[in-house]
Amino acid sequence: GRKFFVGGNWKCNGTTEEVNKIVSTLNAGAVPSQDVVEVVVSPPFVFLPLVKTSLRPEFHVAAQNCWVKKGGAFTGEISAEMLVNLSIPWVIIGHSERRLILNESNEFVADKVAYALSLGLKVIACIGETLEQREAGSTVAVVAEQTKAIAAKISNWTDVVLAYEPVWAIGTGKVATPAQAQEVHSELRKWLQANVSPDVAASTRIIYGGSVTAANSNELAAQPDVDGFLVGGASLKPEFIDIIKSAE
Ligand code: 13P
Repeated sequence: GRKFFVGGNWKCNGTTEEVNKIVSTLNAGAVPSQDVVEVVVSPPFVFLPLVKTSLRPEFHVAAQNCWVKKGGAFTGEISAEMLVNLSIPWVIIGHSERRLILNESNEFVADKVAYALSLGLKVIACIGETLEQREAGSTVAVVAEQTKAIAAKISNWTDVVLAYEPVWAIGTGKVATPAQAQEVHSELRKWLQANVSPDVAASTRIIYGGSVTAANSNELAAQPDVDGFLVGGASLKPEFIDIIKSAE
């Protein structure tokens, strides 16, 4: 089976004081065992060492991005090698905020995924359509194209979690309905089955992101192809613990 996965993407938020507070709340929360749920939180780079050392050991950390190839003369970037050096196990790649605001292409995102995996990092690879694309009826084509770019550059999916995050649902309070999420997740799994392998389709976690809260997480988690969440705003709040509990 696919172990339920709950990621908390803190995005570009937090002071040292706020980070300490969030970590204390997470450390005090009663959650299902590690056999039932994998929990990964993703603070901004500068707080990664602090969170890694202060967070309960069964929760893991992810960077929110990394550079596309070996580090060097790339001012302002953080390399995958540095994440490995700091024993950061996970990295989020291709978040829509980077695709849309920083113009990261499918190709560039796929190159980052491949490079991070080649160094032994585990990757939360994000895909998702805009409102305009959904209204044009091209949701499945868009996410298939994003997935195809990645699939063309990797051969081992063991360390990949695919995060379906419809752009119109991110930070808007307009969560996808359970049926909408299930439909896209199921189409993605079919795509993996036809274009990668039945094994990869059966074993790859496909998680949903976009306005997930403790009020909607149980219903979404009940969908057969929803294997977890990537939570933004609510991951900064105590309700993140309740979202983790939707694993069981
Ligand atoms: P919100 O949960 O704030 O909508 O953000 C979702 C997201 O982008 C997680 O990566």
